[in-house]
Amino acid sequence: MKTFDQYVEMAGQIHGHICAGQILGLRMALYGLRLLGLPDPEGKDRKRLLTFVEIDRCATDAISVVTGCRLGKRALKFRDFGKAAATFCDLEKDRAVRVVAKESSIGSARELHPEIADKNQQQMRAYREMPDQELFDAQWVRVRIAPEDLPGYKSPRAICALCGEGISFRRETLRDGVTLCRACAGERYYEPLVP
Ligand SMILES: [Zn+2]
Ligand SMILES: [Zn+2]
Repeated sequence: MKTFDQYVEMAGQIHGHICAGQILGLRMALYGLRLLGLPDPEGKDRKRLLTFVEIDRCATDAISVVTGCRLGKRALKFRDFGKAAATFCDLEKDRAVRVVAKESSIGSARELHPEIADKNQQQMRAYREMPDQELFDAQWVRVRIAPEDLPGYKSPRAICALCGEGISFRRETLRDGVTLCRACAGERYYEPLVP
């Protein structure tokens, strides 16, 4: 287990700077892991953990540092809810806890360190010192995770009948018996410039 300062240093390297969001994310992930009773996410608990993050901000990088859950390992799932919250899932025990930063935490930081004028500095300091219960609300939840969303899932790749591109992890859709990728099925987020 690393010290909090070691985590701060790692997060700073990965994220590019150390900020209040990093401190909050580190604390959030450490709290989630403590509630789950998984002290060693990089060692023996490595394959048990899956994390859902609800925002793509500073805290997200820090959560990844503590949990070891990364997008490229399929152990980090992004749900774009715009909330400073994350759900930590223990795949072995099939239980999960959702931790959300309290809306009051910013005000609490101001009350704790009114002498620090810089807001980021003020929050960084306060988020280190405040007890978990003042920073976060935690709730035990059930998360249904489909087999194809789990790390290590293997399936034959499908080929889109329209664009010919390969599709992994059962992301294809069947329309009138024709296999389509999500883009060709109408979920495209880009417009080709040359038709
Ligand atoms: Zn940041
Ligand atoms: Zn296609």
